Amino acid sequence: MKVFNTMTRQKEEFIPLEEKKVKMYVCGPTVYNFFHIGNARTFVVFDTIRRYLEYRGYEVKFIQNFTDIDDKMIKRAKEDNITVKELGDKFIEEYYKDADALNIERASVNPRATEYIDGIIDFVKELIDRGYAYEVDGDVYFHTKRFKDYGKLSGQNLEDLQAGARINIDERKKDPMDFAVWKSQKPEEPAWESPWGMGRPGWHIECSCMAYKLLGETIDIHAGGSDLAFPHHENEIAQSEARTGKPFAKYWMHSAFVNVNNEKMSKSLNNFFTAREILEKYDPDVIRLFMISGHYRTQINFSMESLESTKAAMDRLCNSISNLENLMEETKQERLMDEENVYLKTLDEYKDKYIERMDDDFNTADAVSVIFDLIRDINTNVKVSSSKELIKYCLNLIKELGKPLGILQKSQKGTLEQQVEDLIEKRQQARKDKDWALADKIRDDLKAQGIILEDTPQGIRWKRI
Ligand code: AMP
Ligand code: ZN
Repeated sequence: MKVFNTMTRQKEEFIPLEEKKVKMYVCGPTVYNFFHIGNARTFVVFDTIRRYLEYRGYEVKFIQNFTDIDDKMIKRAKEDNITVKELGDKFIEEYYKDADALNIERASVNPRATEYIDGIIDFVKELIDRGYAYEVDGDVYFHTKRFKDYGKLSGQNLEDLQAGARINIDERKKDPMDFAVWKSQKPEEPAWESPWGMGRPGWHIECSCMAYKLLGETIDIHAGGSDLAFPHHENEIAQSEARTGKPFAKYWMHSAFVNVNNEKMSKSLNNFFTAREILEKYDPDVIRLFMISGHYRTQINFSMESLESTKAAMDRLCNSISNLENLMEETKQERLMDEENVYLKTLDEYKDKYIERMDDDFNTADAVSVIFDLIRDINTNVKVSSSKELIKYCLNLIKELGKPLGILQKSQKGTLEQQVEDLIEKRQQARKDKDWALADKIRDDLKAQGIILEDTPQGIRWKRI
């Protein structure tokens, strides 16, 4: 299996530290709001990667944190007139609602930064003892110049980074790139006691600490959205490796952003969608299919039109499952017939291809194409004369290949029927309203799905062609 490592900028053979076991840490949300579709892509991508690793027989310990103390949390809690803790509790609960709806598997642990304050203080103390951090008036900074590998993830040295960055000159820091690992309390801010007075952790230190506590000194995969590579992950590396003297993570993985109508998504541009809003309109399978329809390292462009076309694609897959489920009930042939044996081999070739694509740095875009090819093949070759055993094999295979992608797990029994009934009703209404164009369109759309309508004395009936 090959994985693209941001650290080396190339695809590498995936060899975990311990055979068949994977320790994986993904940077999670700051819980001050509902999560948006950009966050959703990152969560879906790494959930898919975790599921695929499990499919390939790895036991994955998967940690995703909640950042529940930072400037954004403090600002929002103040606006809502609640405590930072209450704000965190609320949006963690909302996170689970949306993540569960999106079929994102629960992490082994979702640590909250505020539950690790003691560990963070110990971490900071050790950095000071080792000469990697220094205190100024209750703030503690990491001394970047002291860590000789600073910049290795971004592939830049300290001077380049300094020249390229817009940094507020802070006289109290030894170097402009130094960053806070502990922040002294400002008026009305939540704070904890520490050897440096009342204060709170800097952002980066929480991930270094929680990864260390829950997974150990060196982990297999550290991941997050591409915006986190610098400075967040660079700073995590500096802290963790300064403390342990060992490599922090073997593989660094970053997922690309979601843009909206080809623009960066932001509240100010008014092109911001929460996952919840989209979940109200679309089936989770459609949203996931959309998120994985591009390779995780390429940006995807979100628009209602692109979701609509993903929905149409998903309908094709669901119709095919529904057809197979119907054939299963109709066929009289139980056991696999000799001539069908050859076809099983053809089906297995699709599975091999799927694995080959996914083994190549989790190429979900190509893996999805393989599933569409498989469905097309099944649609032409599996008929009412096929055996139950063959039909079951097809259904199981579709489910098997869908599982790592978090899609295609539901039976379609009854759903197609309900959709058709709804459309027939809509068409009747259109006819009453003398909207012949709409009535014709509904009939033609159904025909394109292989369904024809008949007028009978008992009313409209439908059947498969
Ligand atoms: P945040 O709550 O902003 O800390 O982000 C949580 C996760 O979502 C991080 O891994 C971010 O890198 C990722 N993320 C934030 N915005 C986007 C976006 N527009 N597209 C993809 N991932 C994003
Ligand atoms: Zn992090």
